[in-house]
Amino acid sequence: MATTRGNISIHAQNIMPIIKRWLYSDKDIFIREMVSNGCDAIVKQKMVKPDSDQEYRVLVTLDTAAGELRFDDNGIGMTDEEIKKYINQVAFSGAEEFLKNYEGDNKGGIIGHFGLGFYSAFMVAEKVTIQTLSEQESATPVCWESEDGMKYRISEGNRTARGTTITLKLAEDAKEFLDEYKVREILTRYCGFMAQPVFFEALKPATEVAAPAAEGEAAEKPAETKPERVHINEKPALWLKQPKDCTEEEYRDFYKRVFHVYDEPLFYVHLNVDYPFNLKGILYFPKLTNDFGTREGEIKLFSGQVFVANNIKEVIPDFLMLLKGVIDCPDLPLNVSRSFLQNDGYVKKLSAYITRKVADRLVGLFGAERAQYEKYWDDIHPFVKYGCVRDAKFFDQVKDTILYKTTAGEHKTLSEYLAKNEGKLGKKVVYTNDPTRQAASVAMYTQQGTDVVVLDTLIDLNFVSFIEYSAGVEGLTFARVDADAASFTKEEEADEEAKKALEISRDALLALFKKATGNESLEVKFQTLTDENTPALLVQDEQGRRFSEMGKIYGQDFKMPERYTLVLNRGNGVVQSLLAAADGETRDLIAAQLYDLARMSTRPLEKEEITAFLKRSHQLLGMIKP
Ligand code: ADP
Ligand code: MG
Repeated sequence: MATTRGNISIHAQNIMPIIKRWLYSDKDIFIREMVSNGCDAIVKQKMVKPDSDQEYRVLVTLDTAAGELRFDDNGIGMTDEEIKKYINQVAFSGAEEFLKNYEGDNKGGIIGHFGLGFYSAFMVAEKVTIQTLSEQESATPVCWESEDGMKYRISEGNRTARGTTITLKLAEDAKEFLDEYKVREILTRYCGFMAQPVFFEALKPATEVAAPAAEGEAAEKPAETKPERVHINEKPALWLKQPKDCTEEEYRDFYKRVFHVYDEPLFYVHLNVDYPFNLKGILYFPKLTNDFGTREGEIKLFSGQVFVANNIKEVIPDFLMLLKGVIDCPDLPLNVSRSFLQNDGYVKKLSAYITRKVADRLVGLFGAERAQYEKYWDDIHPFVKYGCVRDAKFFDQVKDTILYKTTAGEHKTLSEYLAKNEGKLGKKVVYTNDPTRQAASVAMYTQQGTDVVVLDTLIDLNFVSFIEYSAGVEGLTFARVDADAASFTKEEEADEEAKKALEISRDALLALFKKATGNESLEVKFQTLTDENTPALLVQDEQGRRFSEMGKIYGQDFKMPERYTLVLNRGNGVVQSLLAAADGETRDLIAAQLYDLARMSTRPLEKEEITAFLKRSHQLLGMIKP
């Protein structure tokens, strides 16, 4: 065969997206492209010769000494003509052409037009060599070589068995791909679930293999050591199986292996549809950890068993990113840009479908296994709440399965909560965002038989406002345990005289408390509390507090003043004597002490506050003459 030379021709309309990917994509994907081409070649061979008992495989060999990575397959191979057509014309997908021309019935399983394709090899190689022998009867082996992906040489090849070997001589700036563990990791990531067997072996340089001869022993020749051959995709892609054929064990196993975790998933959703789109996958609900960092989920996107990327937010709704799982959509146009995916109707439908399936699972669990669902709730609630806030359709589906956990450890739906407490509170839900620090305020409610629910995660702040607005319950409000004193207040008697007198004392006391506490924005109110032994309560307006908490979370510069109201109990002896007392140091001390005591029912005192409180308590004790 005569040696031919030429320039690789480029279809201009196709080259731009490729060049872009070239610049932005991560280099690792050339391995995926080489292996998937090998798999395609095997699929094609199987289609041409369906009954062969050949053991098909793609073998990736790392030859550190030679500075080479080789991809060998025993697939269909290429003729001289095919090389010219499919390799020399960049961005001409031979996969599409093959399927168009092939007359067989089984047309599935070809990965084809994926992204960079064959030319991704030039991201890392200073020379690419193809040695190939076509399955066609009279075919002769062909060798194709190119240093830059622009000029090539075709000559007679040296292959004797059908198939293709692609050798990449790694460039100076791509020597990282000579690292065995790196290559193996990339193979596992991208090719771990490919449909054809993929193997990897790393040839050890002679110096590494040669064991130093022990004393007294004759030095052995090490040359014959066979490298270990690792089966990269040994375990099948579980998501392709019918859900009814998968065992609990398999699901759990798969979860641990794919995500390298030791914890057990709570439960999972197995997606398996062919119509209206081809979508397979398994989504797991992981256990919640205390560490916020690790709550981040991981969704691996596959296309026909070939890994594409993690957490592609264009395809998977962002709140589902809190889950762990795999999604396989062979029909996604993954060789196009992300912004295209974002606006694609197909992708939108796909993502809506996934969301709906997840919601279905939650609703199903809630209906069939309420007790079990309650156990899961503590782990899944941030996810469900986040989903509700982000996606109106999701909320609509799951709204009746949202639970509120009480400080007593019970789980109630909104309507269950309201039904029990409505008589006392109307449409108000009392909550705590810190059951320990707010224990005293919580106790005031629970002693009355009112349930207090715990809403203590970051999302709850948004969620509470969202639910008030969206639950469809007229007049629904959420109030933190210290938001007001209404539940502990007696009906006011309408004695105009007494009220007027109180107004006057209120102004005087306001000045007193501001001075004693150093809190300039403090409000003071008189009410008769149900418990006459409680002199005062400190309440903080719910809306104002939420606003300032939001500000803190979103790092706003301006600080909302925190508005507190001190509710003084008219029926309490200490308050009454304070009203009657003349100005003086004792009066200031008592006022400050009352303020601290009121504050302590909503939260423990801070370091400096406690020092002042103790000092003042000692002073006050010293005044008592037994
Ligand atoms: P695509 O896979 O989308 O067709 P590629 O650039 O990856 O695009 O490959 C171009 C073509 O080169 C393939 O369609 C195929 O015809 C041919 N080819 C590449 N690698 C091999 C191989 N290992 N065996 C046989 N043909 C191959
Ligand atoms: Mg390809």
